[in-house]
Amino acid sequence: MVHGRLIPGGDCAAILSNLPSGVLSIDDVLANHTLLPYYTRFFETDKKRQVWEALQVGRGSGITSVRTQMPDGTEGLKFCPNCYLLDTQEYGEPFWRRVHQIPLLGYCPMHKIRLVTVPIKFARLSEVFLPLGSVQCQEVEHGKAPWMEPLTDMLTALLCRDYAPTVGYNNLHTALINAGYGVDKISKYQTLSVEKIQEAARAYYGAQIYEQYFASLSAAVLSRLVHWQLSSPDRYALLAVLVGLDADTLFGPALGVTDPLLERLLSCKEAGVVYGKSDLAAKMGIQPGQLDSLAAKYQIEPFWRQIRQERNRCIRLLLTDNEYDAISQAAKENGNTPLAVFARTIILDVLQNKER
Ligand SMILES: [Zn+2]
Repeated sequence: MVHGRLIPGGDCAAILSNLPSGVLSIDDVLANHTLLPYYTRFFETDKKRQVWEALQVGRGSGITSVRTQMPDGTEGLKFCPNCYLLDTQEYGEPFWRRVHQIPLLGYCPMHKIRLVTVPIKFARLSEVFLPLGSVQCQEVEHGKAPWMEPLTDMLTALLCRDYAPTVGYNNLHTALINAGYGVDKISKYQTLSVEKIQEAARAYYGAQIYEQYFASLSAAVLSRLVHWQLSSPDRYALLAVLVGLDADTLFGPALGVTDPLLERLLSCKEAGVVYGKSDLAAKMGIQPGQLDSLAAKYQIEPFWRQIRQERNRCIRLLLTDNEYDAISQAAKENGNTPLAVFARTIILDVLQNKER
């Protein structure tokens, strides 16, 4: 029987049938001693029930698309040296703890130290007998990235706590939009930008996690994500931690939307400086047409149109080639703003900041 894998199969029922009845129930085993709750965390209720019922009667779960490799692309079993020693003291021998086997987890939730990996292909686990007691306890490697602790908390919550996807809204979508990962096009229902998310994920998590979880990200995947339709929990966990959500907030009451563009627009309005429409758009890094869409979307009275300024004064600037190129380049990067508009906006901004 195949039993070396992260998703339980018919083996659970088969093994239990060899134990005296009443010692362990199959529900207890599946819920508390396998990674099944982790892998089915985002399943719809019906699908979750189907999987559960199949396993209860000793059939396979039907779940095939499970990522078993760790972020470096290898497979193996993991343990925490502290848990190893404590379990030996308490129970007489160490054992493989299930939470440590979540592929993305690199850090012990109880002891906040790095896990040690014993490399082995999961396919081989059906042929070998590998109790943790046969593995020598090793010194732990030190050093950790800033995301390791929040990610560990999130993964542990997805396995051990009783969360379910929220109906009618998705706080991960809202938090990603609020963090500025929406596409630049302004519309009523804002969609997420694949490129911005990929860039942020690579910067935050590094190349290995990026390659495994984000290199093939697409608009279709993001659209499934905002409807809670991705079956694997890994990307939910990674993205939630990227934008600073914990599990309680992810599955909690709906978050409010704070569009970063709207915030910028309101702070310009607050500042009370008189800008023409194209100057204001340039200051915000968007096109004048987008300013109209933004105002319509949030029903903001266009405060820039009221002010009609006659522009009939002129400054003549003499520049070296290098200076001219530098300013052109900056204007181009600032949403292709016309050069004169860009220069005027910058100068007015400097004056405004001086006044403060
Ligand atoms: Zn530990």
